[in-house]
This record gives sequence, structure tokens and C-alpha cells, in this order.
Amino acid sequence: MTERRGIRVDLIFPDRATCDLYYKSLIYLSCRTCYSEKSPSEIWEDIRAGKVPEEKMEKLIESVVASGHGTTIEHINFTFAISGVSRTLTHQLVRHRHASFDQQSQRYVKFKHPDFTLPQSVEEVPDLSKAFQQQVEANFELYEEMVQQVPAEDARFLFPNAVKTNLIMTTNLRELIHMSGLRLCTLAQWEIRALFKGIRHEVMNISPFFGKMLAPHCVHEGYCNEYNNRDGHCRIRPPKEQVLRIWEKYRRGELIEAADDSIQRFPAHLQEDESGADQEGMLEKK
Ligand SMILES: Cc1cc2nc3c(=O)[nH]c(=O)nc-3n(C[C@H](O)[C@H](O)[C@H](O)COP(=O)(O)OP(=O)(O)OC[C@H]3O[C@@H](n4cnc5c(N)ncnc54)[C@H](O)[C@@H]3O)c2cc1C
Repeated sequence: MTERRGIRVDLIFPDRATCDLYYKSLIYLSCRTCYSEKSPSEIWEDIRAGKVPEEKMEKLIESVVASGHGTTIEHINFTFAISGVSRTLTHQLVRHRHASFDQQSQRYVKFKHPDFTLPQSVEEVPDLSKAFQQQVEANFELYEEMVQQVPAEDARFLFPNAVKTNLIMTTNLRELIHMSGLRLCTLAQWEIRALFKGIRHEVMNISPFFGKMLAPHCVHEGYCNEYNNRDGHCRIRPPKEQVLRIWEKYRRGELIEAADDSIQRFPAHLQEDESGADQEGMLEKK
């Protein structure tokens, strides 16, 4: 279980044992099936007989992810239980078309004690915070009166975007990497970013190998293409234009190449230390 700012995420499936037993093997099986004379069943038997070292599987999977050959990583799925998030968040989340969702209904559930999310920026302005809470609570009082007289599906029209909700989300690794790439970006909206930090933390807990793949998309791409980072304030990766400018200088022979093996595909500062502490603070806008 991971909880941040009232947002709770549990990775329901797989558990560590299932992940260890099947996930790398399944991806390896899909890759090898494409390039081997052997039948998939024969390849699977080799894997099960321990004839394929884990490092070999990892190397192949990493190269598949790096080169964008995505179908092979569509064979493994992750199911998350998500609670305490606002409808503002879920409206964004359900836009992703390769994930499956089941969300608490506002038609069939008559809420006795609806809850809501108070953004930190509002909380920090005492007058606004008070007015916001009064307004939402007044809405909820009227809702509670309304559900005595009209269907919940109509009373819910009163709910603000801030109202909290729960859902189950299942997605394959390819889509999870894609979603995390967008939603872990430092320019993503704070609440959905907090959710994906929780998602990454949960995956890290069962498999640092797969957890490390959940990173802002610039980490995979090598540059940042976000319009609002043209000033380069987020330093995870340089803006695309800057990279192309430098490349152009290099191409014209104005720069010399220096040996540098310090660049990692999934840099250590995006990972979590052994205690599970989140070092994400290092990525914030300076
Ligand atoms: C920072 C940010 C700001 C946003 N702002 C807005 C906004 O102001 N208004 C708004 O409406 N939305 C907004 N969105 C949502 C965005 O437009 C997408 O709806 C959302 O990111 C999910 O779509 P996706 O492209 O990421 O792909 P997913 O639905 O997650 O699909 C994954 C990939 O599959 C492929 N794919 C999926 N469906 C198709 C298809 N039909 N045809 C071809 N390829 C497909 C694409 O390669 C896609 O990238 C925002 C998203 C982000 C991250």
C-alpha cells in the first residue's frame, strides 16, 4: 500500500512471486518467438528448465523497451486499487485508451458522507480555503437532502470536481510506461502526478526492474519536448531544441566528443533508495 496526500494505491496483481515467476519470462518468450525456429512451447520449456539466465532476459527486455518494440511488453498486466482521488483526476486518467477501469458509481451509490480533495494551493490561502470548504460542505448537505427525494443519479449533479472517488485500473506494461511517461513529468497536474508516484512505488516494491521503467517520458526519449520547458527549468533532460542545436554544432565539427559513461537510461535519482524513501524532490522545478 502507498498513501500520499490521501491518495491510496495498492498493487493488487501481480504479487512479487507471480511477477518473479512469469513476467520477465513472458516478455522473453514473446521476443524469442519472433526470432527463433523453435515453437513458443519449446522456448517456454527452456525457460522453465532454467536454461535462460535472468540477465539475458533482462538485457533483451531493456533493448525492446529502448527500441520501442512495444507489443512484446503488452503480455503482462498490472491491476491497481486506487482510492481517495478526485473526479478531476479520474477524468484525466480514463482518457487513456489502453487501460481498463471500473469506478465507483454515483448512480448506484447514495453517499452518506461524501469526501472531497482540497488542493494545497487553496489550503495555503486561509480565506479561500475556508470559503472553498464551506461551499463544498453546503453542496454535500443539499445532496444529502436531495437523495431523500430524487434519484442519486440526479442529486450527483451537485458534486464538484473535488469529490473523491475509488476505482480499479488494469493495464499492460506498454501502456503503463506510456501513462507514467506523461503523468510523472514535472509539468503534469499535481494530483495525477502524485498518483503515478504511488503507482511507481508499488511496482518498485515487487520489481525494481519494472519499477525503474516508470519514468517521465523524457528519460526514455533523451530530451524534453514539453512546450512549457523551453527555458529548461526542469533539468531531468534538456529541451529538444537545445539538444538539436548542440547536435548541429557537433555535425559541423565545432564540438569534440568526450568520453562519458555517466548517462544511465533510468538514472539513479529517479529510483528509490533501499528504505523506500522517495527522492522525487530532486526533480522539482528549481
Ligand atoms: C499534460 C497533459 C495535458 C493535457 N491537456 C488536455 C486538455 O487540455 N484537453 C484534453 O482534452 N486532453 C488533455 N490531455 C489528455 C490527452 O489529450 C490524452 O487524451 C491523454 O494523454 C491520453 O491519450 P494518449 O495520447 O496519451 O494515449 P493513450 O490513450 O494512453 O494511448 C496510448 C497510445 O496509443 C496510441 N493510440 C491510442 N488510441 C489511438 C488512436 N485512436 N489512433 C491512433 N493511435 C492511438 C497512441 O500512440 C497513444 O499515445 C492532456 C494530457 C496531458 C498529459
